[in-house]
Amino acid sequence: MPRHSRSSLKKRAEEVVRILSRRYPDARCTLDHRNPFELLCATILAAQCTDAKVNTVTPELFRRWPTPEAMAQADIAEVERVVHPLGFFRQKARALVEMSRDIVAIHGGEVPRTMDELIHLRGVGRKTANVLLGTCFTGGGVIVDTHCRRISRRLGLTRETDPDRIERDLMSLLAPEHWSIFGHLMVFHGRAVCDARRPACEACPLLHLCPEGSRRMAAATAVQEVAG
Ligand code: SF4
Repeated sequence: MPRHSRSSLKKRAEEVVRILSRRYPDARCTLDHRNPFELLCATILAAQCTDAKVNTVTPELFRRWPTPEAMAQADIAEVERVVHPLGFFRQKARALVEMSRDIVAIHGGEVPRTMDELIHLRGVGRKTANVLLGTCFTGGGVIVDTHCRRISRRLGLTRETDPDRIERDLMSLLAPEHWSIFGHLMVFHGRAVCDARRPACEACPLLHLCPEGSRRMAAATAVQEVAG
């Protein structure tokens, strides 16, 4: 991968935001929620699962345990039954209850609003905290999920594989006001165009910015020439 100056990478990152913001004007968190506690629960449930599937179980979950106090007292086996369709249901049910117990015991039942406090809740990592801060509060970084990880690397914005390091690279390239939206744009673009296995580079509005896309297009052209 050729080396690029930091200023050219910053320009590329901001151009990605500009182009994809036009392409996906509705890009946002797609987990249904009415308050920070619900979003925290939904984000924990979304690990290794689609947002759409999470949205099918959360109405029942929030009807039965609508607050941290209620969830903290829930029978974990009952919670397991509700979240069972999502996979990893035992770990997820336990995480919801333990996280709620921490919110009640340490924060008086209020969802905390800082990265440091959030990542000290059981079951909450930086990605979950960034979703919450970027959507409900302020001060979040870049949400690095599987789409963001894959596309940022393809675009040459990072060489890292570890999500925390990718987040650090992206935050150093993007203006702070774009940290939150960047993650959402990556998700929308990953679903619509930049598929993990078969990215539609020929139809991608980022092709002129994307080293991986250029490589793929050149390889496809070479194959066509050989075949022709
Ligand atoms: Fe993904 Fe291809 Fe677009 Fe690059 S050009 S972002 S690899 S779809």
